[in-house]
Amino acid sequence: MNARSDQSFPRGEELPGHSSTFGAMLQEFNIAARLLNLDPGIWKVLTSPKRQIIVSCPVQMDNGEIEVFTGYRIQYNITLGPAKGGIRYHPNVSLDEVTALAAWMTWKCAVANIPFGGGKGGVICDPTRMSRRELEALTRRYIAEIIDAIGPEKDVPAPDVNTNDQIMAWVMDTYSMHVGHTVTSIVTGKPLELGGSLGRREATGRGVMIAARESAKHLGFDLKGAKVAVQGFGNVGSVSAQLIAEQGARVVAVTDWKGGVYNEKGIDIEKLLAHTQQHRTVEGFSGGDPLPGDQIFGLDVEILIPAALENQITMANAPGVKARIVIEGANGPTTPDAHRHLHERGVFIVPDILANSSGVTTSYFEWVQDRYGYFWTEQEVNDRLERKMCEAFGDVLQTALKFKTDMRTAAYVVAINRVATVTRMRGMYA
Ligand code: NAD
Repeated sequence: MNARSDQSFPRGEELPGHSSTFGAMLQEFNIAARLLNLDPGIWKVLTSPKRQIIVSCPVQMDNGEIEVFTGYRIQYNITLGPAKGGIRYHPNVSLDEVTALAAWMTWKCAVANIPFGGGKGGVICDPTRMSRRELEALTRRYIAEIIDAIGPEKDVPAPDVNTNDQIMAWVMDTYSMHVGHTVTSIVTGKPLELGGSLGRREATGRGVMIAARESAKHLGFDLKGAKVAVQGFGNVGSVSAQLIAEQGARVVAVTDWKGGVYNEKGIDIEKLLAHTQQHRTVEGFSGGDPLPGDQIFGLDVEILIPAALENQITMANAPGVKARIVIEGANGPTTPDAHRHLHERGVFIVPDILANSSGVTTSYFEWVQDRYGYFWTEQEVNDRLERKMCEAFGDVLQTALKFKTDMRTAAYVVAINRVATVTRMRGMYA
């Protein structure tokens, strides 16, 4: 690979059509690209989205009027296989954001070492103000508009913010109606009854638990008895807390959108789950003391798991972090300056593209089972996930040690190296 000076990689904001989110992705990318001495030509290929599709989706609303929604589907890189990534319904969806998310999916799939490229979709809409019928009509029209670009070997969508297994069932049905036969492998995150995978719901939290266990092993301590704090008690946070407690760790604090709970002896996670199902929040749980949400990051714990939203650990709270390990269950929970600060203080941070990659790894298992037409037991899914996650963790850790760098940069090095190697092997067509 050719050497390349630091100055010669443009930052995101210098690229036409790209602002904040893609720029943030590019800054992380460039740190690893420099370490790898990435060839300038390959740099151009890996920082250019392969395909950006913009569609207009007319939908007849319940009041009889016609609305037109803008939808995007980005296939950022398909060197390793079909594009893979969720569909997001949100008023703030933008081309810049969807492109950055598709790039991150490319690196996440490459770190997980699964044969997928990276994609993402989004529709500018407010699903909280739409009826079920309107959501179904929008989903079917959006899929019809991008139908030529997607397929089990081209691009395989999945749920993301504000989309769920019912919406994936409509995606699958719309695609199947167009091609004239049932194609379950067009989308993942489906209900079990129509080709979903056992273990998918728990997969991301299971991967977070494995990352915590392997990190503790690396730092020379055992999960048994270790104190853990979890921000967010949704899919990722609750399953992480449950599985980490099963390993003998003490989950002493959990917070969510409304409040939190603290118990020095360890929270009974099953009881907290029952409380949350009833009250939609962990606040008010009788098995511990109330904990204000903003205190979660300063607690005296060994392991901290942000599993809620992006930009939660910032320079405002990072200096107070006492944990030895941070496992990023959420996407982008740590700001770049907070990450640098924590790393310099010796905190071991497992980055999102590795820590929560078990979700997409199990989506890959779902796609394999659909194509195979033969379904695995939950134990088989979990065993395969355990192997894949341990391999991915080991690859990133060895890379971090080899390059004397942090785990985030190492994860990018692993990912970029895999995609760059295959790009060079395949060569430039025509
Ligand atoms: P979820 O909606 O099930 O849960 C989100 C949790 O965060 C809820 O408990 C909510 O109360 C809490 N929360 C919201 N606002 C908060 C705030 N201001 N302070 C503290 N807590 C707050 O979502 P999820 O599926 O668990 O996803 C969580 C994160 O993990 C997201 O960043 C998501 O992109 C990422 N992720 C999820 C998966 C997956 O398989 N579900 C896979 C990869 C990444």
